[in-house]
Amino acid sequence: MIDPDWLTAGAPHVWRPYCQMKTARPPLPVVATRGSRLILADGRELVDGLASWWTACHGYNHPHIAEALRAQIERMPHVMFGGLAHEPAYRLAERLARMLPGDLDHVFFAESGSVSVEIAMKMALQFHINRGARGRTKFLAFRGGYHGDTLATMTVCDPEEGMHSLFAGVMPAQVIADLPRDTESEAALDVLLGERGHEIAAILIEPLVQGAGGMLLHSPEVLRTLRRLADKHGVLLIFDEIFTGFGRTGTLFAMQAAGVEPDIVTLSKALTGGTLPLSAAVASQKVFESFWSDDPGAALMHGPTYMANPLACAAANASLDLFEGGSWRSNVARVGAALSEGLEPCRGGKGVVDVRTLGAIGVVEFDAPVAVGDLCAGFAELGVWIRPMGKVIYLTPAFTTPDEDLTLLTSAVRKVVGVA
Ligand SMILES: *Cc1c(COP(=O)(O)O)cnc(C)c1O
Repeated sequence: MIDPDWLTAGAPHVWRPYCQMKTARPPLPVVATRGSRLILADGRELVDGLASWWTACHGYNHPHIAEALRAQIERMPHVMFGGLAHEPAYRLAERLARMLPGDLDHVFFAESGSVSVEIAMKMALQFHINRGARGRTKFLAFRGGYHGDTLATMTVCDPEEGMHSLFAGVMPAQVIADLPRDTESEAALDVLLGERGHEIAAILIEPLVQGAGGMLLHSPEVLRTLRRLADKHGVLLIFDEIFTGFGRTGTLFAMQAAGVEPDIVTLSKALTGGTLPLSAAVASQKVFESFWSDDPGAALMHGPTYMANPLACAAANASLDLFEGGSWRSNVARVGAALSEGLEPCRGGKGVVDVRTLGAIGVVEFDAPVAVGDLCAGFAELGVWIRPMGKVIYLTPAFTTPDEDLTLLTSAVRKVVGVA
């Protein structure tokens, strides 16, 4: 393949994500997207097994989202959100409040997942301060968790497995625990909260699936346990649904599988159907009320420049239209069945310790970290885009991925695992 001019000219200047720039293989030049596929500069098409880091849930270039974006860009691409209001954001906030369970009704917009987690953390800290409780300055998070790459969110990621162990000691340490999966670990967490609960503002968890930490699943009962313990010890509960939100696990939000609601939920990734960066921290009535005051000092002091960008909000509204259409549900079930059936034979593969699926997520886990660059290149040769992570090869395709493309994805994984 001859590299396009722009790639050759730009390569010395672009610093890539999670990348040892000296030794990494060059990136694949993508010139267009269509449905479930990436189109490369040399004309090859790759079936996308990841939906671009879990964002493009309706597939690429969905005509309904594209139309909404065209209309909005003509009218008003952006205005500041301080002191001004616009229809895309106000409609979106009202719709999110209606779609989310319980009284998660107060939507604070931002532009990235990490920033929405930071806002949720600030909300939790200030919730206690505004109610006169001092000293609740820490967070309790879980081994295997991932909540972002910024300085504060790094502190609530898994301390060892995470991508941030290098920075241990730079930021204040948080309280990191094991998930309460059984009565023993539940009792241990109860004891821990008994001892340190007075220092803790909130518990942070990715409900049902710890995504970037290795696609680790837990049962809905874990979330009910956390709700109970949070209430018992007077700490807030934050669900980070940046990965799980918008149908990925089979329910619109993962919390619905457990029938419990957090005090704050964070959303991003699939919020705009994979078109523009947008995120939200959505607070319950109880959290919002703690900021409702005649004291200006009790206000939430946050406001990103591109907060509630009208284009991004228009895309999100169009994506929610598609969710309201309802076909995502049967599509997630269809994708899940195909992943489950297609990946199951991997159980016999060399080094494979587990094969698991939930919703439209399929995972093959190995006993050791895999060679990400080599595997990506091998998958591309097979006509698919799959980028493993740590010890797992995983598939999180668009919900609209056609059956024949799902077959290409799972057969490529079987081939690489050596069971085809
Ligand atoms: C991706 C992700 C984040 C971080 O979002 P960014 O947009 O990359 O900052 C936080 N939490 C979870 C659960 C995620 O999957």
